[in-house]
Amino acid sequence: MLAEAKVNKREWHGTHHSWSYHPQAFRWSGEMISGINILPIATEMRAWMMQRGLLSLMPPEEPSNKGGFTNPYTTSGITLSLLMSRIINCSHDFTSNPDCNLDEVDSEIERLRLNNEILLYSARLCEVAIKQLLYCTQIPEKRYKKMALGQLLESPCPSCKRANGKEPHLVSLVGTLAHPYHLCFEFEHCAMDHMNIVNKLRNSNSAHSDIEGLNIRTPSISRSQHFQQSTEILSDVAHMLSHIEHLEQKMISDLQAKGNAINRLKLDGLKAEDCNFNLVPCVDFNFHSPKHA
Ligand SMILES: [Zn+2]
Ligand SMILES: [Zn+2]
Ligand SMILES: [Zn+2]
Ligand SMILES: [Zn+2]
Repeated sequence: MLAEAKVNKREWHGTHHSWSYHPQAFRWSGEMISGINILPIATEMRAWMMQRGLLSLMPPEEPSNKGGFTNPYTTSGITLSLLMSRIINCSHDFTSNPDCNLDEVDSEIERLRLNNEILLYSARLCEVAIKQLLYCTQIPEKRYKKMALGQLLESPCPSCKRANGKEPHLVSLVGTLAHPYHLCFEFEHCAMDHMNIVNKLRNSNSAHSDIEGLNIRTPSISRSQHFQQSTEILSDVAHMLSHIEHLEQKMISDLQAKGNAINRLKLDGLKAEDCNFNLVPCVDFNFHSPKHA
């Protein structure tokens, strides 16, 4: 009875709509696919945080008709992950360097600055990693462009909002992305309360004019408080990133397989006007050109 109530309480993600891939999920060289239009942002960030890997720069820029990246969230995601790594390093230096010569006031200011930057960049990084994936879908960008992390996880259904006098049900864009890959259950019934994580991040993200007051103590107390807070936040962030990473990896291998299949058809002489594919996620791409049908 109790356990059931608890499970129901976590069902906050809302319904999942079905979707298919947009041609902008790929990088194009003329009519051929030269690669997928996303990079493993969440995967690399999490690996870096676990000291298991390095962060990438954007590959050398290429024109969009010569295989260049056109996903705006990929470029932003690379920049944000590099900024995030810098802030994590600063934060680590602050907590692990007892002989830095900051006095009590400066130590407390530094603690607050680092804490806020960790919160801010964590939220932005998760947001951009999700939007990078949404950009590959037929879901129109205006739907999610301005959404913050919490809204990506849960927001009122726009079609029901328009219908008169109807109370809109909630939609989760992350759940929607995860659904065809059978990852939505893992995400929604996870032992962690994701909204709780989001709310912690939101404290700095949306409350622009609100900030906790300076609480001047000794430098070592400020440092140890920062160690404790940043460790907690960053482990929450690594957890969120692990979900996005699973999704990212599924979409990357799915898109690679679909891209190869499409290229094979084109090499076999399929004409551009016949390439009217419905690219369903997690379903093997199986296209019969009208000629052979
Ligand atoms: Zn609806
Ligand atoms: Zn689902
Ligand atoms: Zn569910
Ligand atoms: Zn989780």
